[in-house]
Amino acid sequence: MKKLLYYLNPIQRLGNTRYAFWFPLIFNISLCLLSEFYAYYVAHDPNIVGRYIIFTNIAAIIYFSFRDGIRGGLITSGVTIIYYLYIIQTRHYVGEQLTSGVETTFFLALLYLLLGGTVGWLKETIDKSIEREANEKRRLQAIVQQLPVGIIITDSQGRIIQANKKVESIFGVKIPIGFVIGKDKPLVKSIYKNKPALPSHSPLIQAINTQKSVVGKEFEIERKDGKSLTVNINASAIHNRRGEVIAAASIIYDMTQQKELEKRKDDFVNMASHELKTPITSMKLYIDSLLSKIKKFNDPKAEKILESIKYQTEKLQELVSELLDVSRIQTGKLMIKKEIFDMQDLIEETINGLQSIMKNHKIILSKTVPLSVSADKFRIYQVLTNLIVNAVKYSPTSEKIIIKLYKKKQQAIISVEDFGIGISNEQKLKIFERLYQVVDAKEKTFPGLGMGLYIAKQIIKKHQGKIWVESEKNKGSIFYFSLPIKTNQKK
Ligand code: ADP
Repeated sequence: MKKLLYYLNPIQRLGNTRYAFWFPLIFNISLCLLSEFYAYYVAHDPNIVGRYIIFTNIAAIIYFSFRDGIRGGLITSGVTIIYYLYIIQTRHYVGEQLTSGVETTFFLALLYLLLGGTVGWLKETIDKSIEREANEKRRLQAIVQQLPVGIIITDSQGRIIQANKKVESIFGVKIPIGFVIGKDKPLVKSIYKNKPALPSHSPLIQAINTQKSVVGKEFEIERKDGKSLTVNINASAIHNRRGEVIAAASIIYDMTQQKELEKRKDDFVNMASHELKTPITSMKLYIDSLLSKIKKFNDPKAEKILESIKYQTEKLQELVSELLDVSRIQTGKLMIKKEIFDMQDLIEETINGLQSIMKNHKIILSKTVPLSVSADKFRIYQVLTNLIVNAVKYSPTSEKIIIKLYKKKQQAIISVEDFGIGISNEQKLKIFERLYQVVDAKEKTFPGLGMGLYIAKQIIKKHQGKIWVESEKNKGSIFYFSLPIKTNQKK
């Protein structure tokens, strides 16, 4: 029944560009035969046909041109005109009746062809545009379905309109269309920052509420089949021309493998640095004891060799301890042991220690105030040393390093200024990332692994402070870090 209705109802067939030939032809011939049958055998008056047939034919032309386009209109008009000529022929019209019959048929033929052609053309135009739109939609849907990342599209209320196959394979469940994110019971358990994720954590909901893009949020999900995955989700609100949110889309990708690889790499670095630490410490002890022994023999050459072995071993020790710090940070095991101390004293001690080995640079403490901070003294010393060593390393042609300590808005600010190679704007944030080193032709000559500033940033972060840099290429850099001042500070 549904099929029959679809077959007969031209509205249902909108967008269908496969037009029938036989149906309008057979239908219209049958209509003529029926009309003849009625005239001869029911009404017994062959001339009765002309009174009603025009309306029936016009209706048929409109119907078929709307159903089957120009083809439907022309077939119906053609059959009708032939039928009219047949009537003139079989009713034996003569004289004026014949002339008027032929004239009327001629005008009606023109009218029918025009009507059938115009309605048919309109119908075909509508069909084509509907088909084009449908193809466009289908193409877009096919693209979304086949993308190698998960895509979820919702309306402005977070109701899912579309989700591709990849989402289902990531979450391991069928995503029901109409599911409202943030309202309906979650399809999988998810964890955000080590705690069960709340509806407000959903990037899609955040994108809709804030009307901004949400980038790179990581979730751990626990699938029903017991598998745990790490997924990265980005979401964006979609606006109409008036700037109103009409939909939202999110891209989800599975980072589990990448995370596992990273973890394995971190585990390796952690294990390797732990394994290296003990032999290097012993080596250093042996070298120290050898050095003190060799001094008695008064052999400057051997002493020099041992001194340089000692120097290299110390470098190795620093490297291993940096590696250990990085892996502590990665595993959340970087501990801070706070104590109250005077920042000014620590800066002076650090400068004195470094100045004795950095003979080519003058490290100047140009501005200072006594400021008590509650912090991990060793870790802050480590940050300060790193900044000063970098300042020296990256300013080979200048000799001044200026250190300042001052108070600003309940914060102790420490700055280390050099007049060296400087840092370009686009590198300023990146240099605080793990293992990031600026590489350009000129700077390749500076050795390093890009761990120092990353460690420094994590240490300062643990103290609720900040670290940043102001710099101009080829003019120099000023690195700053801030630490909260101990609250009962008088100054
Ligand atoms: P490393 O010095 O071992 O490469 P860091 O993490 O300490 O690693 O520094 C990261 C990068 O930041 C360096 O490779 C360098 O390019 C840049 N950088 C750090 N300090 C300075 C500075 N004072 N002047 C210019 N560039 C610097």
